[in-house]
Amino acid sequence: MSTHFDLCIIGGGIIGAGIAQAAALNGLSTIIVEKRGWGAGNSSKSSKIIDGDFEGIPRLRFANVRERLRERRIIRDIAPDLRKVDWFYLPIYKQNIQKSWQVALQLRIYDALAGSNKLASFQHLPEKQWRNLHGLNRHDLSAVYAFQEIHIDDTQLAQNVLRSAKQHGAMALCPVNFEGARQSDDGFVVSVAKGSRNRDFDCRFLVNATGAWGDRVSRSIEGVKNPLAARSIKSTHIEFREHLSDNSFYVEGRKGANRIAILPWRGGTLVGSVDSIFSGNPERVIPSNEEVDYLIEITRHHFPHFQHEPFDAWSGLRLSSAQHRGVLSYKDKNLGHTDERYLCVRESQFASYRAVAERVVISVMRSLNEKTAPPPEAHYICSSSIQL
Ligand SMILES: Cc1cc2nc3c(=O)[nH]c(=O)nc-3n(C[C@H](O)[C@H](O)[C@H](O)COP(=O)(O)OP(=O)(O)OC[C@H]3O[C@@H](n4cnc5c(N)ncnc54)[C@H](O)[C@@H]3O)c2cc1C
Repeated sequence: MSTHFDLCIIGGGIIGAGIAQAAALNGLSTIIVEKRGWGAGNSSKSSKIIDGDFEGIPRLRFANVRERLRERRIIRDIAPDLRKVDWFYLPIYKQNIQKSWQVALQLRIYDALAGSNKLASFQHLPEKQWRNLHGLNRHDLSAVYAFQEIHIDDTQLAQNVLRSAKQHGAMALCPVNFEGARQSDDGFVVSVAKGSRNRDFDCRFLVNATGAWGDRVSRSIEGVKNPLAARSIKSTHIEFREHLSDNSFYVEGRKGANRIAILPWRGGTLVGSVDSIFSGNPERVIPSNEEVDYLIEITRHHFPHFQHEPFDAWSGLRLSSAQHRGVLSYKDKNLGHTDERYLCVRESQFASYRAVAERVVISVMRSLNEKTAPPPEAHYICSSSIQL
């Protein structure tokens, strides 16, 4: 095995895998290390939806929505075997905080921002079609909208992106724990361990793509003075063996809390998520009874006939998008004096993995290139046509 790399990526979730793919594609000698399994971290705990950040519209995150809609279209095209384009139904009740006209406006803007990246246009379902949504509570129902999003197997997506990275020359080590890194004349000496066996190698640039573990991992890297404390959000899902509907729904949470998705999943039904702030050990994230009860209550309120008990409940972590969206600049002062050769990624959605990878790899190339070389944007090879 080579012991010198241009780039070392810590963390083999969708973000690390995407960076490894983009880096290898652009000719960087790349190594990625993962301690558990490819895509086994929070990339396996999502709601399994590639959405265009519909909820970003009231928060005026238009640039982000546009990027996500573009990425949604690209993932639809490059991962045909992993995804399913589906209609999502959005029932609006008289007591909902968000009124029918507000949702209609939001959907109109969503379609407009999608432009040529649009799936089908949204629909306002006529009342006579409501009964086709079997089991949906129609008491006080005032409107139903439908729009298209994409279902995806999140773990499989991460694994396929990683496989593509390997096909383009990246070296991938798993299960291998990143133990720490010390500075060298030209980057870092990285220490990893597999069981009781330790190994060192050199890299010119180090990317921390461990998501919720990011702060802990940063602390074991020499020269990173002040790891930025990112806020983690715990999100909980429940799973039923029973099949509720062939359709997917977004329903309003209690007192205007975030929308809950109710989806067909692996022959049964997936419901989630309910969020809370988390500040513990990322290895120990478990659903509380209150969260599970809340999701059951929301499901039964909207589908009163569905009185089953969930067979499973699980929680995952994502980084708070309000605080730390996207990639921190490698010039960020908080990264200390290693800033030119170290970057910590903080992305809260897997749907953006390709766009994030592009930003990271351009930053890496800019840092490693000779000053006289043309800017990396000019010759960057994009992964948007590589089939997964
Ligand atoms: C409940 C929930 C629902 C979500 N729903 C959606 C959704 O519908 N759509 C969407 O786009 N996004 C969604 N997200 C967000 C998305 O799932 C995550 O933001 C994304 O998967 C994070 O990917 P990641 O690669 O950054 O992190 P992870 O997948 O967690 O990867 C980090 C990896 O680093 C590894 N690691 C940690 N420490 C070390 C070490 N010392 N050495 C080696 N490896 C290490 C871990 O084992 C882990 O595999 C959701 C998130 C949650 C929690």
